Amino acid sequence: MARNEDLGAIVSIGDELVIGQSLDTNSRWLSERLTDHGITISEHVTVPDELGAIVSTLRRLVDRSGVVIATGGLGPTADDLTREAISVLVHEPLIEDQESLSLIRGWFSRSNRAMPEQNRVQALRPSSGIHIQNDNGTAPGMHVVVGGANLFCLPGPPSEMKPMFEEYVGARLTRSRERVVRTAIFQTMGLGESEIAQRLGSLMARDRVPLVGTTASGGIVSVRVRYEGIEPRERVDALMGETEREIRAAVGEAVFADGPEPLAAIVIGRLRQNGQRLSVVESCTGGMLGETLTAIPGASDVFLGGWLTYSNEMKERLVGVPSELLQRHGAVSREVAEAMACGGLTRSGADHCLSVTGIAGPGGGSPGKPTGTVWIGLASRSVTSDCRRFLMRGERHVVRQWSVTSALAMLDLRLRNRSSLGLLRQQDP
Ligand code: AMP
Ligand code: MG
Repeated sequence: MARNEDLGAIVSIGDELVIGQSLDTNSRWLSERLTDHGITISEHVTVPDELGAIVSTLRRLVDRSGVVIATGGLGPTADDLTREAISVLVHEPLIEDQESLSLIRGWFSRSNRAMPEQNRVQALRPSSGIHIQNDNGTAPGMHVVVGGANLFCLPGPPSEMKPMFEEYVGARLTRSRERVVRTAIFQTMGLGESEIAQRLGSLMARDRVPLVGTTASGGIVSVRVRYEGIEPRERVDALMGETEREIRAAVGEAVFADGPEPLAAIVIGRLRQNGQRLSVVESCTGGMLGETLTAIPGASDVFLGGWLTYSNEMKERLVGVPSELLQRHGAVSREVAEAMACGGLTRSGADHCLSVTGIAGPGGGSPGKPTGTVWIGLASRSVTSDCRRFLMRGERHVVRQWSVTSALAMLDLRLRNRSSLGLLRQQDP
């Protein structure tokens, strides 16, 4: 097959990845980066620490792609075989790179250690290869040109791989001038993925330009529009705009964000704009809502904190839920969700307080309150509190994740003054 210069492939090397002991996060990250650079990713391949498998995979990929990025297998131990694989691939013996060797020695001496003899192999490279400097570890990367393809080998640890990609690889990626790549993302909530697909209809035809696709994750369905081609930019702008209008006409009321920004970040942005602050009172999510919010840099501007009231006792003691409500209605009820949110609001002094109480499962359900029943409360200053019941299906972690998403969505709708929360009634994953 002829090589396509705009095609890229990603190879992950390591037994730990093949057997499922650790997750390949590098490919995901690299795919996003390469896509930003206008490269079309044809495949991700994961191979074990076996010389033959690494060589044959790289050989196949460099024959058809302009760019191949491999991660892993550059450590100092016997199972790190990427150097040997490249040597076989380019038919060149490995030579010791003196500059790399002194950098590796320097890395050890900075932590007051002598370089173990074993690490010396990391200074090896094929004679036509170029070493890529690693400021965060001992393994240099490698850049070789095989046929007409650029092959970049980077170490496995993401903290080493990412800066090396940004500093070295990114600067060397080229693409043909006339090629245009555009992506637009619309995040929706409240409609299932199949409902979205049904409404989008022929927009989702696989031969359409631009291509429209959907992805469901954690209660959010993203609609993705992607153009890759060589039509004039103005024409591409028009095509993208037209597609966006059609998407909005079909599912617009469910769209809460243009772009891939996480819902928590969107909510934090809106609160900041309003000069408002938020607190939370969590039961079945056990802190996940707070975790999701504080994962966003700058959350402290608007997020005050909250209470983790897993037991009835803590619901009473920490946020003042009357024991009589707990006895009469049970912890998973409108009344208790409301009392949690109102108690948290007054005690925190925030402008909004979200509460979550539900049955995450697998046990604990009853005919009146099946597993997956979650009540979410939202108390706000000067607006009456709002409580909604959701019936979520799925495993425990799914119910908990959806609870977090639904709570943030309720607040998002309120911050946008959308009083009709119709779309958020009783979601089913
Ligand atoms: P290496 O010594 O270069 O083979 O890299 C080993 C370490 O890097 C592994 O223990 C993993 O923690 C990490 N690693 C390797 N490959 C990947 C990958 N594809 N995604 C995420 N982490 C990885
Ligand atoms: Mg390895």
